[in-house]
Amino acid sequence: MNPSIENIKHILVIGSGAMGSQIGMVAALAGYRVTVQDIAEDMLARAKEQLTSRMQANVAKGRASQADADAALGRLSFSTDLAAAAADADFVIEAATERLELKQHIFTQLGELTPAHAILATNSSTLGSSKVAEASGRPEQVCNMHFFNPALVMKCVEVVRNEATSQATVDTTLELARRFGKEPVLINREIPGFVANRLMGAIQKEALALHAAGIATLEDIDTTAKTALGHPMGPFELMDMVGLDVIDFIAQATYAETNDDADRPDPAITDLVEQGRLGRKSGRGWYDYS
Ligand code: NAD
Repeated sequence: MNPSIENIKHILVIGSGAMGSQIGMVAALAGYRVTVQDIAEDMLARAKEQLTSRMQANVAKGRASQADADAALGRLSFSTDLAAAAADADFVIEAATERLELKQHIFTQLGELTPAHAILATNSSTLGSSKVAEASGRPEQVCNMHFFNPALVMKCVEVVRNEATSQATVDTTLELARRFGKEPVLINREIPGFVANRLMGAIQKEALALHAAGIATLEDIDTTAKTALGHPMGPFELMDMVGLDVIDFIAQATYAETNDDADRPDPAITDLVEQGRLGRKSGRGWYDYS
């Protein structure tokens, strides 16, 4: 029942926050008609404003022509009306708030409101699509399509299949990501953190252990990652950029699922979060940005 890639004309993105807004823009830039849907009018207005000024900046820097930027913005619409937006959606990317019951409710609605051929993907970082697949009534057409922040820039998309995901769903989702200009990777089995966040977690864990043991300062650990390993950012700088609250949330969710001591959230991060030191967004995390 999946649409072949050629039949995908209208893409629906649920949620217009940090991820959904940029994913919508990525799809519109790739030539698709896109609706970004949210329950919050102010989030939609903010997304529209941010994306418009971002496109203007691209034109000013010579990265895009005015005509291409206008055309892409013209393909993108913003709405609070889920039923209307879902009625002719061929592919849905859900990027709403990270709460299981909320996502299950959304997938129930999507199962009822979208055409039977539509693929329903979730951008969730911590919830495997098996948790929402049954609610949709079409589990074989459900998978994770996991973008990275900022979605307009980052090339990787993790396509994660659950046990019920059909090969056609996987193939179409991988191809769609390629048409978005991304470099998708296939994750064959749901595993907490998928691949990228597990790799990042392993580096962070070692960096935190070295720092806690007083082996080197956090500045020197970051410098080593950049000058010896060629990483664009050190692990502490990266944690501050992602947000220590986000890292703590992912760690708590992973630990709740695995109960493995190795996944126990790092107390130093939990401590900073409790002090309101969330990273760049709060002005202070591991580093002081004031
Ligand atoms: P966000 O808080 O910035 O945005 C979430 C949006 O969902 C809000 O605008 C909210 O109004 C909207 N929303 C809530 N309930 C809704 C509903 N019923 N219908 C429609 N919209 C609804 O969150 P975010 O950071 O963009 O994250 C969204 C998803 O993307 C999460 O599943 C998260 O795990 C995943 N993700 C986040 C990142 C990241 O770095 N922020 C990276 C990859 C994946």
